[in-house]
Amino acid sequence: MSTALLTGISGQTGSYLCEQLLEQGWRVAGIVRDADEMRPALQQRSPEAELFSGDLADDARMRSIVLEVEPDAIINLGGVSSVAASWSDPGATARITGLGGASMLAAAAELRERTGRRVGFVQASSAEMFGEAVDIPQTEQTIVRPVNPYGAAKAYVHHLVGVYRGAGLEASSVILYNHESPRRPEGFVTRKITMGVARIAHGLADDLVLGSLGSQRDWGWAPDYARALALAAVGEPGDYIVATGQVHTVGDFVAAAFAAAGIDDWQSRVKVDQRFVRPREAPTLVGDATRIREALGWTPSVGFDEIVRRMVSHDLALLDDAPAPPQADRLE
Ligand code: GDP
Repeated sequence: MSTALLTGISGQTGSYLCEQLLEQGWRVAGIVRDADEMRPALQQRSPEAELFSGDLADDARMRSIVLEVEPDAIINLGGVSSVAASWSDPGATARITGLGGASMLAAAAELRERTGRRVGFVQASSAEMFGEAVDIPQTEQTIVRPVNPYGAAKAYVHHLVGVYRGAGLEASSVILYNHESPRRPEGFVTRKITMGVARIAHGLADDLVLGSLGSQRDWGWAPDYARALALAAVGEPGDYIVATGQVHTVGDFVAAAFAAAGIDDWQSRVKVDQRFVRPREAPTLVGDATRIREALGWTPSVGFDEIVRRMVSHDLALLDDAPAPPQADRLE
């Protein structure tokens, strides 16, 4: 039985990856922080996963977990997950996302050296590292030019993966574009929209308040992106873009979400608030996934409209099951 060690196992993509690997017969170990609020949900969904407490910023702890677990594959998904958080604490972003990646790579190389066998290393890189991208769509050759501390920390680990690959480690950098699912937190626009539409459909909210409706993203289905990481763990080491190649605006997502909830008359419900408009926006991030399709046989299985439908129907059902909110006073 092969063993995979995941950081970020309790997050959206990590939890799907954990489930997929267990289904495929892997032993799965994961590293979680003590303060991780997602831990109970993970343990409930995947009780077979072996969890180790630790923080990516703790180099010695990362090394000791890797040497104890002796994984065949390490998939590094952990780190500060939002651009906004990286601006408020760039130091922590560098320590957790950046140096944490360095710790995992060094430990993988040491394990490989000790055991003499393949230790597949997969870094969950981000399209954010392309920043103001010079190519549309972006490829593995596009210049890495981040525009925020999150992208800069991801860029550092991406380069370090190349360094370790050059030194013989079977290391891949999988460059993930936005990927969504019902497990996405509401801090991301897609889930904010689908929960907001579900609340409106249930009469629990009047409006949906957003930032720029014209922002464009390449949105994929998170379990498909987890599958790409699993393929990279056993496949030819390299850099791989994982994207759908399709661009939609936030406004497209809003329209599709109201349509999925069966609400026609929604235009007046959507408000724009400058608080949610970003001062500096990465322009069109859209990826060309030709390389991973040809090398590892990966293609996305769920398209834009179906992603929106699945998220909306999940959130409508969630509110169906929720206890009724206290009734507001009525003037009769
Ligand atoms: P990101 O691409 O990782 O930053 O993912 P997000 O889901 O947070 O943002 C995707 C896009 O939606 C960005 O271009 C945002 O500017 C845009 N957006 C528009 N309104 C909102 C909003 O209310 N919340 C968030 N999070 N993003 C918004």
